[in-house]
Amino acid sequence: MKKVLTVCPYCASGCKLNLVVENNKIIRAEGANGVTNQGELCLKGYYGWDFLNDTKILTPRLTQPLIRRQKGGEFEAATWDEAIEYVSSRLAKIKAEEGPDAIMLTGSSRGPGNETNYVMQKFARGVVGTNNIDCCARVCHGPSVASLQMTLGNGAMSNSINDIENTKCILVFGYNAADSHPIVARRILKAKENGAKIIVCDPRYIETARIADLWLPLKNGSNMALANAFLNVLINEDLYNKEYVERYTEGFDDMKAVIDKYTPEYVEEITGLKAKDIRDAMQMYASAPSATILWGMGVTQWGQSVDVIKGLSSMALVTGNLGRPGVGVGPVRGQNNVQGACDMGATPKDYPGYQKVADPKVREKFAKAWGVTSLPDNPGATITEVPHRILEGKIKAYYVMGEDPLQTDPDLSLMREALSKLDLLVVQDIFMTKTASVADVILPATSWGEHEGIYSSADRGFQHFEKAIEPTGDVKVDWEIISLMSTALGYPMKYKNTKEIWDEMRVLCDLYAGATYEKMAGLGYVQWPCPTEDHPGTPYLYKGNKFDRPNGKGLLASADWIPPKEQINEEYPMVLCTVREVGHYSCRSMTGNCRPLQTLADEPGYVQINPFDAERLGIKDQALVWVESRRGKVITRANVTPRANKGAVYMTYQWWIGACNELTLDHLDPISRTPEYKHSAVKVYSIEDQ
Ligand code: SF4
Repeated sequence: MKKVLTVCPYCASGCKLNLVVENNKIIRAEGANGVTNQGELCLKGYYGWDFLNDTKILTPRLTQPLIRRQKGGEFEAATWDEAIEYVSSRLAKIKAEEGPDAIMLTGSSRGPGNETNYVMQKFARGVVGTNNIDCCARVCHGPSVASLQMTLGNGAMSNSINDIENTKCILVFGYNAADSHPIVARRILKAKENGAKIIVCDPRYIETARIADLWLPLKNGSNMALANAFLNVLINEDLYNKEYVERYTEGFDDMKAVIDKYTPEYVEEITGLKAKDIRDAMQMYASAPSATILWGMGVTQWGQSVDVIKGLSSMALVTGNLGRPGVGVGPVRGQNNVQGACDMGATPKDYPGYQKVADPKVREKFAKAWGVTSLPDNPGATITEVPHRILEGKIKAYYVMGEDPLQTDPDLSLMREALSKLDLLVVQDIFMTKTASVADVILPATSWGEHEGIYSSADRGFQHFEKAIEPTGDVKVDWEIISLMSTALGYPMKYKNTKEIWDEMRVLCDLYAGATYEKMAGLGYVQWPCPTEDHPGTPYLYKGNKFDRPNGKGLLASADWIPPKEQINEEYPMVLCTVREVGHYSCRSMTGNCRPLQTLADEPGYVQINPFDAERLGIKDQALVWVESRRGKVITRANVTPRANKGAVYMTYQWWIGACNELTLDHLDPISRTPEYKHSAVKVYSIEDQ
């Protein structure tokens, strides 16, 4: 038996664990004493390795390249040479006939790691010649990245996961830590034990609401109004830090002009909250010696998410809760390496290290390093724009690595129609996902556990994960597949290992230059910025209240509240909000193939509904029901629970049967292009009523 030190692949808490291995099989997982998890794991960490041993639990693992040579035909087994030649020749043809922007590629926020994302964006920009590269940050914390870059200078948590327990007040806004990041939830609990006040803003009575000092069950769709009312109380009731605002911020007058009308009384109708509770919350937040705001998808998956985050960031700025330990703003990233995919430039406007595609000096630097004459200067497409661009005839080929847009993206009938129109759909993955099942070519990759690399956790922490076992089947490591494709397209890539890739990347990114493999050995944890090899990394940003903006000042900003795009009516009288299931991860291709997790929660999923609504609609707990929107309908099981608020229902997007993204709409935030997953109008009825 041997123990292999790795990082859990299931959320961005960055828990370190040991896989215990015997005869190339995983025996068990044990929590290691990582910086964020201190020896603890949640159930996904303990039981999320089953599919590495048995490749046929629910969905077959992909074990050889597959080609569908005719639309509507069957997959045929192929050799790697055939598959690489088939894809590369078609990509070359599409590029020659339609231009490089007719090709779209994805990075992956999941198992492959940072090095693979670096190689994929290099392939997109340097070889294909397009900035059409994106990742699933687009559908989760893309708005946090965009907004915090504007207001503070860095699109990431300003503080550290292990510092959460040291704060004296936590404002939890649209973030269900217990289901999304159980190990972060543990830190919130510790903060409470250490005397912190907890304020929760969430329509549902989530687990953190149970331990909160104040729970604000705002109406679905009223985030911006509440954030403005918070700022209104802080400013107009003299609870803010005037000296801090004067010295370290700009934009006060413009922000004040926006929020002045949002008195607590004014937003009572919009938010459904009592003015007194809004005032009490801000008394609590402003009077705490240190305070931290944490948010999740409840803030980001809206058509106005970038604006709301500006408001939250402004709350931290006006109260001086930045630039020191125990305070800050915390967009807690969802997937295990969604921070890393962004760090590595798997997004349409940024090179690795958040260096801008629009900056000619940056393009020149990367072109020189990569040995190409020029690099594209136009921003690329986002993954949420892809269906429309395909239907407009602008995108002809889609190379999807480690993502499943046919399960995770909004309005799946639109996505299905779009994918059917492609000339070439390539899926590089470990399982036959829904997207893989309609692909033209499947390139089977190794999984977490079968390769090594670096992940970035939610608080900018780089950690090394090791390979535990040899893979089954004729599969290849992701970065090797991309390198073969690149070589076939006339740009040889000959990396020997991930360290070589990482070192090439470090030279090009001041932000990560000192984050060496040596520093990340064992339990090593290096948080960026880490500009030199003798730099220890940065547990909290903005020391000395110097913000990474051109004039060094934090930007105060907010915006008027805009109601959700799709309103309820007589026909569709309830709000559908998509949420998370604690035992499963992302599109469930990995956790759905682990028996203990599958046993805990399995198809056909569930819809959480308040007992009042359930009784009114004649729906019993665990009964099969239809949930129907203007875009489709799915069958699922009723979970009657007082945790759901009246008038709203909650579904996770992880189930194949009962896939709630058949119902969601693709209304996008105008800046981040993130969908409004949290507000679709639906009706719910018993299957006997149809
Ligand atoms: Fe830790 Fe997240 Fe893995 Fe759970 S799923 S063990 S919280 S990294």
